[in-house]
Amino acid sequence: MQGQHETLLDSFYKKAIQKTRQYLESKYPLVICNQDDEDIAEIAQILSQTDPPYKEFWKIEISGSFRRFTLILSIPDTFPDLFPKIYLTKKEYQEVYPIPHLDKNRFVCTRDPEVSVLNDKKPEEAVEELIQIAVGILETGLKKENQSDFIEEFLAYWNDKATPILSLFIPTDDVIYLQVFKLSKKIFGSEYILCDSKEKLQEWLKPFRVDILEEENAKVLYLPLVELFFPHQLEKEEDIIDIFKNSNNKKYIKAIENYLNQDRDYYIVIASFSIRGERILFGWRHQGWRGIEFRGFRKNHVPLNVRLKHQRTKSNLLQKISIIRLDKERIFKRGSTMTKFLDKNISIAIIGCGSLGSYLAMSLSRCGISKYLFIDKERLEPENTPRHLCGFVEASQRMKKVDALKKKLMGHFPHIECNTYGGDVLSWLQKETNSLKEYDLTVVAIGNMGVERRINYLLRHGAINKPVIFLWIEPFGVGGHVLCIHPENGGCYNCCFDNEGNFLYSITSTRSEDRDKFKRRESGCQSTFTPYSSLHIEQFISIACKKILDILEKDIDTSVLYTWLGDIEEFERLGFNINPIYDAQLSYRIIERKIIQQKWCGICKKNE
Ligand SMILES: [Zn+2]
Repeated sequence: MQGQHETLLDSFYKKAIQKTRQYLESKYPLVICNQDDEDIAEIAQILSQTDPPYKEFWKIEISGSFRRFTLILSIPDTFPDLFPKIYLTKKEYQEVYPIPHLDKNRFVCTRDPEVSVLNDKKPEEAVEELIQIAVGILETGLKKENQSDFIEEFLAYWNDKATPILSLFIPTDDVIYLQVFKLSKKIFGSEYILCDSKEKLQEWLKPFRVDILEEENAKVLYLPLVELFFPHQLEKEEDIIDIFKNSNNKKYIKAIENYLNQDRDYYIVIASFSIRGERILFGWRHQGWRGIEFRGFRKNHVPLNVRLKHQRTKSNLLQKISIIRLDKERIFKRGSTMTKFLDKNISIAIIGCGSLGSYLAMSLSRCGISKYLFIDKERLEPENTPRHLCGFVEASQRMKKVDALKKKLMGHFPHIECNTYGGDVLSWLQKETNSLKEYDLTVVAIGNMGVERRINYLLRHGAINKPVIFLWIEPFGVGGHVLCIHPENGGCYNCCFDNEGNFLYSITSTRSEDRDKFKRRESGCQSTFTPYSSLHIEQFISIACKKILDILEKDIDTSVLYTWLGDIEEFERLGFNINPIYDAQLSYRIIERKIIQQKWCGICKKNE
């Protein structure tokens, strides 16, 4: 049927386009254009490659408040579900350019189509409204009432036909020198990268298997500008002088002058200024002046204006550089509201890098935490992979869990800094007793009571001076616990267990006949395990990660337990019993408890 007959949508869209055209024709002079019309050809070329294509082009004459415009309306095949685009004729473009919201393709940017939907009941009126908006934008621009909008469009303007350079540099407020490195192969569409430290870059590049080509390093001047300028004011090399002279900022003139007086083949200046609290980066390149004598000036003491107005440079178009920011500040500002953790430089030690530890590390990293110590002595085995962040490829390389996790995280976020220890945590702490003091937080996700007890002992005897979080999940994923023990205040880990080693706030029943049900033996293997699935882990870890971030943010002053209840009904349906203290609770809740010192706790007593 399709291809031969009009589809349901074909006729719907055709009708909408026809109705709109008739409506506009009845109110304005309107000409239907061929694609070879001299005003249309280039636009039609661009728009024929989009999906959906724009095939209808109408010229429409319309009066604004002080002049007449001829606008080109291009109608997409799926109108009114997609906005028409409005362009200027060549003649009128030359009359009005540059003004804000008008680009070099003569396109008038009326609004962000992502945020609005055309009224599909009355598409003709919606288009008329769009035309009025375009006229308003053009007239406001002509009256110079929206000059500041240029700044918003600065990057779009600057990056057009610019050479892309990657950047790991986080813009600062100081004039400094940076370095641009050439890479052994292109990544992110560029073979150049800007960074303030070679060591940092080398570390960052590891996951990409890309090297730095030493001989191509170039020193780059970085200028944090205070005053804004309009992008079209900086087109030729000599325009720089006017911009900085007008800005009265001698510091910048001096910095550029010093830089250009260094003997180099070429020069790169990276500048920034703030738009809405965020520094945007852009750059340009000067060709060198090798072999040129500036009469009357000592070598390397040539004033900026003399140099830039030399015949070799004069009226040269600036070679614009667009900066693709890959630094963590930029990346996280775009995707996440958790940026508060970026600046704090928080470091976390994670003891146990199995399912919980690995998922937790990834969740924390996505929230902007980027410094870790991973401790786990086990190797990643194929049978771990269904519940682990890492997979078969890492397991095939017989990697330790700590190294597999580090590789996985750094492949996702190359800025992450990871230390790893692939040995036994207690024998490590036996030698390096105070090492965990270097971390803002220690998370114990090892599921081993012996280790947990000893870490608690170290914490309450002063060898650890920041909170320790014990993390575990109960059988069949019926729930999990985030037990945060303060170094001094409140109860300790030991205060949460009875004489028989039962956790006081266990969700599963602690009666021995109930507990035995959970222990299942894998045939031929001595290790017992309590079954739960990857889904339970991810559910619990998303809660645990949020609580850990809250703890980091609030600077808690006492010990606290967060208990997450999973699907209790499912658990009971499987024939198991829950601890009576949870009888009144519903599934998927979080219960918060302050942990107080128990009189019978040997650890806390010692501490008094
Ligand atoms: Zn205690």
